[in-house]
Amino acid sequence: MTQSNVIQDVTETLARLGVRAERFSNGSLPARSPISGEIVARVPECTVQQASEAIEKAHLAFMAWRAVPAPKRGELVRLLGEELRAAREDLGRLVTLEAGKILSEGQGEVQEMIDICDYAVGLSRQLCGLTIASERPDHRLMENWHPLGVVGVISAFNFPVAVWSWNAALALVCGNPVVWKPSEKTPLTAIAVQTLFERAAAKFGGVPEGLSTLLIGGRAVGEVLVDHPRVPLVSATGSTQMGRTVAPKLAARFARSILELGGNNGAIVAPTADMNLALRAIAFGAMGTAGQRCTSLRRLFVHTAVYEDCVARLKKVYDSVAIGDPRRQDVLIGPLVDKQSYQTMQQSLEQAVAIGGKVLGGTRVQPELGDDAYYVRPALVEVNSQDDVVRRETFAPILYVMRYENLQDAIHLHNEVPQGLSSCIFTNDLREAEYFLSALGSDCGIANVNIGPSGAEIGGAFGGEKETGGGREAGSDCWKGYMRRATNTINYGTRLPLAQGVKFDI
Ligand code: NAD
Repeated sequence: MTQSNVIQDVTETLARLGVRAERFSNGSLPARSPISGEIVARVPECTVQQASEAIEKAHLAFMAWRAVPAPKRGELVRLLGEELRAAREDLGRLVTLEAGKILSEGQGEVQEMIDICDYAVGLSRQLCGLTIASERPDHRLMENWHPLGVVGVISAFNFPVAVWSWNAALALVCGNPVVWKPSEKTPLTAIAVQTLFERAAAKFGGVPEGLSTLLIGGRAVGEVLVDHPRVPLVSATGSTQMGRTVAPKLAARFARSILELGGNNGAIVAPTADMNLALRAIAFGAMGTAGQRCTSLRRLFVHTAVYEDCVARLKKVYDSVAIGDPRRQDVLIGPLVDKQSYQTMQQSLEQAVAIGGKVLGGTRVQPELGDDAYYVRPALVEVNSQDDVVRRETFAPILYVMRYENLQDAIHLHNEVPQGLSSCIFTNDLREAEYFLSALGSDCGIANVNIGPSGAEIGGAFGGEKETGGGREAGSDCWKGYMRRATNTINYGTRLPLAQGVKFDI
């Protein structure tokens, strides 16, 4: 495909999705496609003043939406899921065009949106409270869950649409409006999602204005969301550096946060591992999405008994994996998002060499696809120790490989990094598997056995510990983060016994 094909592809895909041209033309924010590096659209940005007004409007929407019964709110999310089903192919293609993911991953991301909508529809009839045994006679003690208020969502470029849906589907059934500040690198997919939401809202009828709002812009617009007193919860996904700025501001005004920040995910390959299975999982985990997933595999600990075999076979895969235009069916690795990402990757590789690392790959390929398009062969780096460069997240396809002799040492090293998102072990030894999942094992929010660290399902809670931020999104009981809990005591008797036997007779 030539460069102009990318622009045409973007324009045609947006048209099929029903996005009006004025939403992506003549604006101040250039939207690039990493496929060719070209500017493919110019999106109008929101000012700080407009962002603030939009949040006030969302608050008014909250006053109305909280009174709508939850199962009825679920109906809106069901309609959104229908729109997403119908648009799966086109929205998935737009994710590919804007974020550079291969087509099946772009569509997989939209499938994830559909899955969380389905989940939220069911949840809308199960926002269950609790009845608790009261210590006092003729008393009932219970818990109720109520809508919280405007939910702010700040998202990263690498999951440009799924992250919004994890938050929005739950927030909406929980009775909350959503105000979304997507990554400035991926405004087009956000505009397309907002268009689909508007279509679902029109079918639903009577949705309060401002129930779902999009704020296109950079950091300054995100800061409005973080600082605004009408926003009791901000779910922020991005780098740990972003979280470090955002978290204290939210804490200072006692707002809640769901922080989904950087990861530095590890895998252990034990002597009994099924090597064929492990290699496939490692390849997808480390090279998939060009290493640009928060859950990408970045550190590999291989037992010395299987080290030579494992690394030799991995090298073959790294040498031969197909890299190129992510719209091609045979391609498994698309581009890095931009030049900065490429430069950061090169700096990390230089540091790895400086500490004696043996680097395979990491070089730029496919230069004919565009001067400003950054395709790289994923890098496999053998290192002897877990130095600084290994301990930090480089958001690119670099896999550091280390040798280990006993499992406790491997787990110690595995946990000896500031991040705590995802982890896994490949073993057929039940004791090792259980140990890895135990309190003495992995310290991550996600710990797997015989599957890689990336590609989570929406049914479980997603998130991680330490510098990953501690937030949890998606399934399990994450919905509670989007509601406020009220404890109620009802006295249906004629006396007034005080708790703990306190006497206060007047
Ligand atoms: P980034 O931190 O550069 O930007 C993320 C978002 O935060 C953007 O929308 C940006 O505009 C906004 N932002 C930045 N500073 C802000 C501030 N001070 N106030 C308000 N908003 C601000 O991240 P990125 O490069 O887009 O994404 C890659 C990073 O995201 C990686 O570190 C990756 O691990 C992480 N990530 C984490 C998860 C997770 O679930 N843990 C998921 C996806 C990505």
